[in-house]
Amino acid sequence: MSAGVGDVAGPPGAERPVARLLLAEDDPQLSEMLVELLSGEGYLVDAVRDGQSALQQALTGSPEVALLDRGLPHVDGLDLVVRLRRAGWSTPVLVLSAYGTARDRVEGLDAGAEDYLAKPFDVEELLARLRALLRRPLSQAETLPVPGGRLDIHARTVSVSFASASGVGRVDLSARETALLAVLAGRPLRVFAREELRGQVFPEAEASNVVDTYVHYLRRKLGRDVVRTVHGVGYQLGRRDAGGQARPR
Ligand code: CA
Repeated sequence: MSAGVGDVAGPPGAERPVARLLLAEDDPQLSEMLVELLSGEGYLVDAVRDGQSALQQALTGSPEVALLDRGLPHVDGLDLVVRLRRAGWSTPVLVLSAYGTARDRVEGLDAGAEDYLAKPFDVEELLARLRALLRRPLSQAETLPVPGGRLDIHARTVSVSFASASGVGRVDLSARETALLAVLAGRPLRVFAREELRGQVFPEAEASNVVDTYVHYLRRKLGRDVVRTVHGVGYQLGRRDAGGQARPR
């Protein structure tokens, strides 16, 4: 097969860019328009109108992508990105701004944003840029939440909060187990087709049942609920509320 990793056509629904998106825009009309547009595209939008609320929502709401206006009340959009990056926040950011000179763009990118779009913008371009940000490799994210704990990608471990009184423990994963869990945890709301996971994690494998095998390994180490089977489609990161915490067995 010569198709690239991103070209895999999943079953209906699996390709839809469902992601949690933080929107910070103080212009009420533009904010409403964007909420409608993005919700229509399948995003779960958390909309705030000022920089302070954006800071709070960014740190507590686990968005997968953020769309931040540069000129925000309380905390300016670029200042917001700088503060979030200093706090180790690795969610990709697109800054929207009324200022579109080369220098303004450079300032935005230097502040730690991944992309910068000047107003007025074309909605199709905005949507395409958001999709591109969501395809970004996970290399910058070091830890990701998983049911019952956090995955440390570089150390290849999951720190698990045990349901018993034994406190916090660590489970070591293989490189492939880590890669598979990182893909799922990087887009926790999305259902991945088996074939897509095979392409991303096991590109040399001929058949997508290698994915089933590794899901089995992950469940053996981290508990059944760590990965959710979506029948007829593929897999999704498990949900914390789907039946208690994941637990090593
Ligand atoms: Ca503004």
